[in-house]
Amino acid sequence: MPYSKGRRILPVSFGTLLLLPHLVGAAHAAVDPAKSSDEAPKIRVLLKEKVGSLEISGWDVEALMPRSAIQRVRRVGRQAWKWKCLADRVELDGMPGAQSRGPVEIQSPAGTLFLGSILVRESIILHPSKAGCSIVNRLDIERYLDGVLNGEFSSKWSPEAVSAQVIAARSYALYQMREARRRRAIFDVESSIRDQVYLGTQGEEARASQLVARTRGMVLVAGPARAGEPIKAFYHSTCGGHTDAPEDVWGKSQTGVRGGVVCEHCGSSPRFNWQLRLTPRQLDEALASYKNGSVIGLEVLSRFSSGRVNKLKVAFLGKGGVISTRIVPGSQLRMLVGSEKFRSTAFRILRGEGDSWIFEGRGYGHGVGMCQWGAKEMGSAGFQVHEILSRYYPSARLMRAWQ
Ligand SMILES: [Zn+2]
Repeated sequence: MPYSKGRRILPVSFGTLLLLPHLVGAAHAAVDPAKSSDEAPKIRVLLKEKVGSLEISGWDVEALMPRSAIQRVRRVGRQAWKWKCLADRVELDGMPGAQSRGPVEIQSPAGTLFLGSILVRESIILHPSKAGCSIVNRLDIERYLDGVLNGEFSSKWSPEAVSAQVIAARSYALYQMREARRRRAIFDVESSIRDQVYLGTQGEEARASQLVARTRGMVLVAGPARAGEPIKAFYHSTCGGHTDAPEDVWGKSQTGVRGGVVCEHCGSSPRFNWQLRLTPRQLDEALASYKNGSVIGLEVLSRFSSGRVNKLKVAFLGKGGVISTRIVPGSQLRMLVGSEKFRSTAFRILRGEGDSWIFEGRGYGHGVGMCQWGAKEMGSAGFQVHEILSRYYPSARLMRAWQ
């Protein structure tokens, strides 16, 4: 364990261990959105939306329906419950009176339930709407991370690299929890790449759980100005040599995530270099929302300090031979072509045969925060977890938010 486990030992600033007990109380309250003391908070993960009907089973299952004539239903024995979600209402099939216009929470003392054939931890909340139910899994954030680890990275990587990534994932999740609760949203995170890929219990395995436990409660928080608030610890596959500032990518700064840093460690990534060839038609289709005709010219107008493309000038040949130009952000071009195909905005443009467009680039992902391949290689090279984190989140501090 690279960390001290004492109740009041952390927060820790990178590079220097500081005993700051006077900060612990305030920082602790600020970090934990549920304001619990020593317990890990519960996170609400959106599993599915617009569901018309579903089956839930388990041993000794209980449903709490505060907005129903029957407010509590319990069933012992492995028998599936059928739920229907219709017209702003959720109802238990075959039980008149068990109809709710509000959320229904289903749980089991065993701690697990089956949603169809999928094993789910802790509880399931059904939120009815006109379009059907949103299914939300409410569970301990540490168990959530067990199911994120192999969705976003790999437990086979070195313990130091995985620990750094788990801390980033925990910090990101905690940040999203705070934001969701401020907005009074019905869930905190999605289970897809829109937030973090959550594989559920199918993604769990012993090594992943051990590596999550190794950093239990550890989060990255913003510096002294906003002491104790978790940072939105972005990460991405491969930076290609330099990470980027959130304001350069999304036009908006993020507390605790500063401008880009040099990364010398991701050269072994299979995604370090890439090339994409688009036919004239494919590029025209990608930029069709600009509705100016066929693309006849494409040039990089400006780049950020990281080398990523800021703005492009696109020349279109329209009806009647009219030529017009438009300014297109590099990140917009990437999204319009498809962010999996067009791997990053660190690219240059070439022309190929048949007037095809060739994009040669580096890295994969938005480039903000931690470079996962860089972290992987740093871990293999013997760097410690705090060294990896301080490389990619230089203005953040590390602290233990719960024991
Ligand atoms: Zn990198």
